[in-house]
Amino acid sequence: MTKTYSIGVLNGDDIGHEVVPETIRAMKAAVEKEGIDVDWQDVPIGRAAYDSLGTTMPDGTLDRLRQLDGWVLGPIGHREYPDDAMAINPHPILRKQFELHSNIRPSRALKGLPSIHPETDLVIVRENIEGFQPDRNVVAGCGEFRPTHDTTISVRVITRKNSRAVAISAFELARRRQRKVTAVHKNTVFKLGCGMFAEECRKVAEEYPDVEFNEVIVDTFAMRVVMKPTDFDVVVTTNMFGDILSDLTAGLVGGLGLAPGLSAGDTHAMAQATHGSAPDISGRGIANPYAMIVSGAMLLDWLGQKNRDDRLHRAADAIVSSIESVFEQDGVMTPDLGGTASTVEVGERVADRILEVGS
Ligand code: ATP
Repeated sequence: MTKTYSIGVLNGDDIGHEVVPETIRAMKAAVEKEGIDVDWQDVPIGRAAYDSLGTTMPDGTLDRLRQLDGWVLGPIGHREYPDDAMAINPHPILRKQFELHSNIRPSRALKGLPSIHPETDLVIVRENIEGFQPDRNVVAGCGEFRPTHDTTISVRVITRKNSRAVAISAFELARRRQRKVTAVHKNTVFKLGCGMFAEECRKVAEEYPDVEFNEVIVDTFAMRVVMKPTDFDVVVTTNMFGDILSDLTAGLVGGLGLAPGLSAGDTHAMAQATHGSAPDISGRGIANPYAMIVSGAMLLDWLGQKNRDDRLHRAADAIVSSIESVFEQDGVMTPDLGGTASTVEVGERVADRILEVGS
């Protein structure tokens, strides 16, 4: 009997209510075409959950998610949440609870679209549950504190376990790409923290002799990736460096609307675009759904890998090639890319293309 996959749908906030439905439309078209059974489950979260249920993270949400194979999470606009203990930012909780140790963020230039480097095709694999981010690097309290009015201390956490886990994600990914991993760190200064991260990357590199491995100091990387991004294939790095560098590489290929992402652990994965909830354009129907739709494809691909189900890889490929042809060949794009199409028009066109191709 073939497996029925269960995938959660969590709209998030602001433009999440616009880009997530188009993502699900594309994913549904792709899985339907491959004959894959999916049980889609709406899970309330964020501001909409707060307004209807009194909390941004309703009771039972984590238990529900645990039962799923993965989920699509729209952007969370927590900075606009009311100042209330029931209005917490769900992000760090989700990443921590499910040990989503690897945040995979591709940057690929699309043909014919304005980009600083049209040949760019690389992936940043960022450690996702420790590092410098003070809201997720401790189990209680906060990794940042102020012992006097004029002194602040920020703690950075690096563990062998998560360094190894993110390195394995990077090497596995590289095997499906150009077989090249670059570890980015600054062990010249952070001799212990970055030193430990680098050591774990080197150990994993020995287990993947078929993948080329090198190390680049983070400031050198920042310069080199801007000048010659084609030098890089898969880049593995710690949380804060990856956060910054993945926005930089998104800039190289046309901006946040084109920056998808997947947060993956050993048991669950969460599709989540790099961009925020963009309250400035929310409700106008002009948000670019590319990043979220391709994130949805990455989730299907991850499920395909985990379950050794090639149908899911084909579904993921169909989504990516369809949205690329809608942008590159039809020129149907949202205003951030110079087009005039709405979010829904792009989504409908992508779903139609998925069903048309090869049928
Ligand atoms: P966060 O810190 O939560 O990631 P942010 O401060 O980086 O958020 P975003 O919400 O990502 O901010 O928005 C940054 C800019 O990019 C805004 O002008 C926003 O309108 C634009 N933007 C973000 N996502 C999209 C999108 N999908 N389509 C079009 N424009 C977008």
